Amino acid sequence: MGIDESAAVGVEVAVGGATIALVDRHGRVHHRFYAKTLRGRPAAATLEPYLRCIEQMLAYASAESFHVRGLGISVPGTLDHASRRPLLIPTLPALNGIPLGDLLETRFELPTHLHVDVDAALLGEYRFGAGKGSRRLLFLTVNAVVGAAFIVDGKLEQPTQQYTGHVCHVPVATNGLRCSCGKRGCINTLVSIDAMQRMVLRALRRGEETSLAARLSNGEYFSPLLLAEEAARGDGVALQIYSEMGRWLGAASAIYIDTFAPDMLILGGGVLGANGLLLQQVRSTLMTHLPVQECNKVEVVSALLGNDAVLAGVVASFFVGDTSQHGGQAVPLADVAHGDSEDRPGQIEDILDGTYPGGADLIRRPVKRHRSKYEQRRAG
Ligand SMILES: [Zn+2]
Repeated sequence: MGIDESAAVGVEVAVGGATIALVDRHGRVHHRFYAKTLRGRPAAATLEPYLRCIEQMLAYASAESFHVRGLGISVPGTLDHASRRPLLIPTLPALNGIPLGDLLETRFELPTHLHVDVDAALLGEYRFGAGKGSRRLLFLTVNAVVGAAFIVDGKLEQPTQQYTGHVCHVPVATNGLRCSCGKRGCINTLVSIDAMQRMVLRALRRGEETSLAARLSNGEYFSPLLLAEEAARGDGVALQIYSEMGRWLGAASAIYIDTFAPDMLILGGGVLGANGLLLQQVRSTLMTHLPVQECNKVEVVSALLGNDAVLAGVVASFFVGDTSQHGGQAVPLADVAHGDSEDRPGQIEDILDGTYPGGADLIRRPVKRHRSKYEQRRAG
């Protein structure tokens, strides 16, 4: 139990649902709820499970004597920072254009900060994890796609002007597979969960001997964890896949190090988090792509916070004595291809009333201040 300890509520919106967590000033998650996403529904119905969980979390925080400083939320897409709306969330299009920041702030009467997920993960690592003390911190994350973010002197930075490509479409192999963007050999076709899966299938088709075959034919689903387990047991195919992906990731990292001159590069995400094999391969590949002096200037490390990096990052700004949205004006590296938005802030009611049935109800209904069942139970 906290004794009037400061905390904040973090919300990480992901593909299948949202995690709602109470995070303390040290970036530690004290309690979490999971809200399933109702896909294909209008914005109001999509948000409703998240809002209910936030309410429950505030009740929990109050019962545990936490002082909640604010609400931080991350989305798996792009943001219009000026109007505090998601611009494009490919997996959850119902939220595109919704004034999420204003909506949550009004509903819960708490300062609310919005982040792109990869930026939040970097902020988390910078404040509470592997990136503490770095002045120029670059973060590459590999999940379904490759994302990147960059912090200089504690602030999320805009990418340099010459670097206008989408991160996952940085070409590293001239004769690679055709990417969804139309080009060949983008990093995303070589290093991602899909790419891993493709390499496994290729090995199975070739009839290569691997313990993966037995596990997959026993009905297990492919995942980075499954591959990591087999690599740890010494399976040749799994080790070969890590080696190949590590080389491509190393080549991409060299391009980024050359462009951004970081003093630290953090590698994170589901693909990397499983074991240290990729990290070793990336380090040795960098030695072949960069002069020794350049290599010595940058420390290459694994992310420390794992799955909690985003939750720690979305609340980090509430604990630096500055409640303004610190990186608010920065364009995430992954978003530069989309350019600036002309979208202006508007009235929530105007937007939700006309477009989304039941939307205005979400913000007009005040936070319930009466005691929750949880609090009543505790009070006896
Ligand atoms: Zn591409």
